[in-house]
Amino acid sequence: VTRSKLVKDLIEIVGQANVLTDPELVRPYAIDWTKRWSGSAELVVRPASTDQTAEVVLACGEAGVAMIPQGGNTGLVGGSVPPNGGEVPNAIISLTRLNSLEQVDQVDRQLTVGAGVTLEALQDHLTQSGTGLAFAVDLAARGTATLGGMLATNAGGHHVIRYGSMRNQAVGVEAILPNGKEISRLEGLLKDNAGYDLPGLLAGSEGTLGIVTRIRLRLVPRLDARVTALIGVDATATCVSLVARMRQELPSLEAAEIVYEDGLNLVCMHTGLPLPLPRSWPTYLLIECAGIDGREAGQLLEFLESVGLPDGSTAVAMEGPGRQRLWAYRERHTETVNRLGVAHKLDVSVRPSLLAEFEAQLREVVRVHAPGSTLVLWGHVGDGNMHVNVVGPGPGDDTVDDAVLRLTARMGGSISAEHGIGRAKTRWLHLVRSESDIDVMWALKRALDPAGLLNPGVVLPPA
Ligand SMILES: Cc1cc2nc3c(=O)[nH]c(=O)nc-3n(C[C@H](O)[C@H](O)[C@H](O)COP(=O)(O)OP(=O)(O)OC[C@H]3O[C@@H](n4cnc5c(N)ncnc54)[C@H](O)[C@@H]3O)c2cc1C
Repeated sequence: VTRSKLVKDLIEIVGQANVLTDPELVRPYAIDWTKRWSGSAELVVRPASTDQTAEVVLACGEAGVAMIPQGGNTGLVGGSVPPNGGEVPNAIISLTRLNSLEQVDQVDRQLTVGAGVTLEALQDHLTQSGTGLAFAVDLAARGTATLGGMLATNAGGHHVIRYGSMRNQAVGVEAILPNGKEISRLEGLLKDNAGYDLPGLLAGSEGTLGIVTRIRLRLVPRLDARVTALIGVDATATCVSLVARMRQELPSLEAAEIVYEDGLNLVCMHTGLPLPLPRSWPTYLLIECAGIDGREAGQLLEFLESVGLPDGSTAVAMEGPGRQRLWAYRERHTETVNRLGVAHKLDVSVRPSLLAEFEAQLREVVRVHAPGSTLVLWGHVGDGNMHVNVVGPGPGDDTVDDAVLRLTARMGGSISAEHGIGRAKTRWLHLVRSESDIDVMWALKRALDPAGLLNPGVVLPPA
């Protein structure tokens, strides 16, 4: 099948306006959010339904064109864009037009969404529904990240300590496999052990096994009584022990984030925000508790009092704007780092009990392997998840990435806590997955995608 025949076939399926071939229009889709990963694609195709997606997959398959599923393109490991100099021509399949938002089912506490719905659109839809229900996963890319991309990367975010990650929210999934066939489990059954969990396999598969078209989501009670606190402490170890106690004594704990003095100072410089507390602290813990009424706020305040924190070390907010201001110190780290340059972004986890030791060794490893670079760290302290950002080494220089990932693996951690493997980390997968693990992954990949056309080069290292 020639390129012009493919373009003609795709236009027949999705209409002229939804097949982009002009390089100027294709380019923004072919470069990722970090600007570290980019490649070239023949075209972008934008199906608007499950059936259209199936037809697009068949047409690309017939033409021998590799397919890159893409949602909001906010992924941070290069999985949503084509490779630089791939072996076969690529088509980016943008799923953002799969944006149906069905009615909230209040009794079952579920709803079905199209894979291209953004997290923010879902949040607005739930607010407007007046059902008192909410979605459990939240993350800073909410305005652009899609539910399909979030499921494909098994995104985590701020609330994992309370609700788990995306996989835990997907009651069912509908997807198109590389052979154009559909699998669907949208009945919304909480108990359904009839055989292998095929849709579940797609959670965290990063667009390599199938294209998610719709998701049946679990909802949680909307908790409007919220209290947020930013606490200055001396070190990571103090944060970890405080959070361990909170998890024991405060069932309403929903988020526990850690940031550091150097990163926070950069955020203030970049955003113009004032320093949050009367004096600086080496480490800051941002926590949020949420409940139906104000009791949770009282419990948190009592807890903080019982711990005996020094005067002036804590800022507490209960109303929207005040809480958002405290969250900004954490959420605006990402854009601040982007301003500094192209960051090497590593998203790693260790058991929380090892986090303090990990942080100390990490700083040393970065000092040795990327001298003169800027290291900005932040993380989800309750999950032992640290986001490591190193600005300085050139985009092609992986020395510091290698050293950090090896340190993480030595400490029994994961080289990808929540962002996935993408193209960025395939060569390190063996550090945390055995040969037989990787063999099984390849067997699954070959069974579902024998021609290897669905997001090749993502997740799995060359066989
Ligand atoms: C500012 C910022 C904050 C972030 N915070 C967090 C965070 O707290 N926690 C976290 O886990 N992640 C976070 N991320 C990264 C995170 O992976 C993404 O935001 C989100 O999960 C990706 O959604 P997306 O629609 O942009 O997917 P994309 O970037 O478009 O794609 C990501 C991967 O999923 C695949 N994919 C996309 N859509 C589909 C589909 N429908 N079917 C099959 N495969 C698909 C792609 O091929 C690619 O491999 C953040 C990113 C940014 C920019």
